[in-house]
Amino acid sequence: MTEHDDVAPQLALVAESIRRAEKDFDRPAGSVALVAVSKTMPAERIRPALEAGHRVFGENRVQEAQSRWPALREAFPGLELHLIGPLQTNKVREAVALFDVIQTLDRPSLAAALQKEIQKQGRAPRLLVQVNTGAEPQKAGIDPRELPAFLRQCREEYGLLPEGLMCIPPAEAPPSAHFALLARLARVEGLSILSMGMSADYEAAIQLGATHVRVGSAIFGARH
Ligand SMILES: *Cc1c(COP(=O)(O)O)cnc(C)c1O
Repeated sequence: MTEHDDVAPQLALVAESIRRAEKDFDRPAGSVALVAVSKTMPAERIRPALEAGHRVFGENRVQEAQSRWPALREAFPGLELHLIGPLQTNKVREAVALFDVIQTLDRPSLAAALQKEIQKQGRAPRLLVQVNTGAEPQKAGIDPRELPAFLRQCREEYGLLPEGLMCIPPAEAPPSAHFALLARLARVEGLSILSMGMSADYEAAIQLGATHVRVGSAIFGARH
C-alpha cells in the first residue's frame, strides 16, 4: 500500500461513469475522451494512472508540465498531453514543443505566435479555441459573438485550423446552458471537438455533446 493507491480506482470509476453516460445519452461508445487533469499533482501521483494504461492528460501551466512530462513521456509511450490553461506568448516555444493539443487559443496575438513557432519547429499541436461562454470580463476566451471572425482570421491570416472549442462555464451558474451554447457554436462552425465538463459536471457535458471531458479532482483528489 502507498499513499497513491487511490488514484487507479478513482480513475476507473470516472471512466466507468463516462461509459455509462455515453450509453444513457445515446452517444456512441468510446466517443468521449477523458483528459485526466494532473495539474499541481506530484509525478508519483500521476504514475499510477499511467501504469493503469491511461494516456491522455491535461496541464494548466507550461512550466509545471515541462518539469515532469518529458521524462514520463519516455517511460510511457503513446502519451497525449493537453494544455488547458492560459498560454502566454513568451511560453509558445515550450508549449509547441511539449503539448499535443493546445485547448486555449484565445486571441490573435497568440495565433500569430503559434503560426510562427509551428513553422519553425515543424511540429503542429492540434488546436481548440477557448470560448468565454459567460462573457465574463476577467475570463480568458473569445466572446461567442466574435468567434466566427476569429476562426476566419485563424484560417486565412495565420493558416491555423482549429478543430474544436473549449469552455469553462462561470463558477456560480448552472453549466448546461454554457455547454449547449458551445455545442451550438461548434455545430454552426463545423467543428468536431468539444472540450467541456469537469469533475462536478462532466455527465451533463456528455449529454450535451462533449467529446473531451477534463477531470482532475475526481481522479486525483482535492488540490491544495
Ligand atoms: C483544473 C481544471 C479542470 C479540472 O477541474 P476539476 O474540477 O478538478 O475536475 C478542468 N479544466 C480546466 C481548464 C482546469 O483548469
